[in-house]
Amino acid sequence: SKLDILNMAGASERTFIMIKPDGVQRGVVGDIIRRFEQRGYKLVALKMLQPPKALLESHYEEHKGKKFYEPLLEYIGSGPVVATVWEGVNVITVGRKMLGATDPAKSEPGTIRGDFGIVTGRNIVHGSDSESAAKREIGLWFRPEEVSDWKHTAEKWIYE
Ligand code: GDP
Ligand code: MG
Repeated sequence: SKLDILNMAGASERTFIMIKPDGVQRGVVGDIIRRFEQRGYKLVALKMLQPPKALLESHYEEHKGKKFYEPLLEYIGSGPVVATVWEGVNVITVGRKMLGATDPAKSEPGTIRGDFGIVTGRNIVHGSDSESAAKREIGLWFRPEEVSDWKHTAEKWIYE
């Protein structure tokens, strides 16, 4: 069926969304998860962890050497984070839109950063910015068996 074709193509796109220590401390874990669920995206992995430094060094390797790199590692490593993987059509691009701009001051109200943040150095949440980043980040944060394949029973009401 059309739906099966869709499942094989677009619906299998996945992205890595992490609620940072400030998001955990601010008590917005549930709200962030709710927004993705409510949109129709499928949660396929979730865990809370205190991220080890080596993991953060890999995760943020593109920023090594920048002025904010060390403070960034300290910030993200300062408390538990909630790591999640979401699946759905265009979830990488739409997920980034749901997060808002890197600088919360430039994020529209209605976005996560635009609703909960004020400054770039405390911007609540991370989301993969491309297909290759998503693949890389999901692989860094989750073992394959920690990511669940399951069928949304509401799928035919989310996708045409
Ligand atoms: P993102 O993809 O929207 O998260 O943004 P980037 O990949 O450019 O940066 C990664 C993270 O580093 C951001 O989410 C911020 O937490 C932090 N960051 C980026 N730029 C700055 C900056 O200029 N100052 C500070 N303090 N943190 C920054
Ligand atoms: Mg980035």
